[in-house]
Amino acid sequence: MPSRRAALRLLAATAGAVVLPAPVFAQARHSYDLRPEPVLPGIWMIEGSTEYFSRENGGAIVNCAVLQGQTGLIVVDTGSSRRYGEALSATLRKLDLRGVSAVVNTHHHPDHYFGNQVFADRPIIALGGTMEAARSNGDAFSDNMYRLLGDWMRGTEPVPPNTVIASDEVQIDGRRFTALPLAGHTEADLVLVDAETGLMIAGDLAFLDRAPTTPHADLATWQASLDTLQAVAAPAILPGHGPLDRTGASLRQTSAYLTWLSETLTEAARTGQDMVEIMATPLPAEFAGMGAQPEEFHRSVSHLFPALERAILPRAN
Ligand SMILES: [Zn+2]
Repeated sequence: MPSRRAALRLLAATAGAVVLPAPVFAQARHSYDLRPEPVLPGIWMIEGSTEYFSRENGGAIVNCAVLQGQTGLIVVDTGSSRRYGEALSATLRKLDLRGVSAVVNTHHHPDHYFGNQVFADRPIIALGGTMEAARSNGDAFSDNMYRLLGDWMRGTEPVPPNTVIASDEVQIDGRRFTALPLAGHTEADLVLVDAETGLMIAGDLAFLDRAPTTPHADLATWQASLDTLQAVAAPAILPGHGPLDRTGASLRQTSAYLTWLSETLTEAARTGQDMVEIMATPLPAEFAGMGAQPEEFHRSVSHLFPALERAILPRAN
């Protein structure tokens, strides 16, 4: 096979100029630029990109919440790689020299917990279902994340949560929360409501201006969880992806999108469309502008449509 170097030599000879070949396997030095923004007294948000995982964004697509505890900082969700966790740890020492005292994982998706490795000697708190799902899916997630993110993932090993949270009223490093054990985005989705400020940390039950993801979703259960969250009437919501929400728009938008997704796929199954036809259908304007579209819609079609189709179509024999 002709090498790139040989091709460049040929090009140089043809052009009569000296061309120095670029190093083919040069590795860019990647680093995360994490910026905690104060959102409420004693609370910061690190806002992720609303794109899908890529080698450009290094998987920094998730929101992290940072709250002042009694002996350090409480971090909710730790990003998608060891390197992200290291950047988080270093950045947060600038806010509180004592660093991170406790970690919470809202659910078992890798962009929310693969930074845990850096905090393995501290309490890493989650629902029991999240701990189990992280244990059983960690290796498969890891393979996929290496494929998507390459060098950003170097040295990353999935570290599941180590502490199961109680429900209702809890204290984490002296800070009081209401813990809501919900589900629907995955089989175990934790929502924390901060007692002091009312901030709701919704994990991936709420997305804002970024398409919801559905690889482990149960849409009806998710809608029921959104009803529960609406009833809390929180003054501010930190969604799993997208900007801070002070109006409840993230809950309404996520619900509207899931309703549309369910109706669209059900109708497609009833009228005998196949996945390629559904994917070719333009998205309504209100959903087309969300981050990671139409890719996320296409992924949802492949996650959700086969089962829906089996449920609706009469079996051939
Ligand atoms: Zn998720």
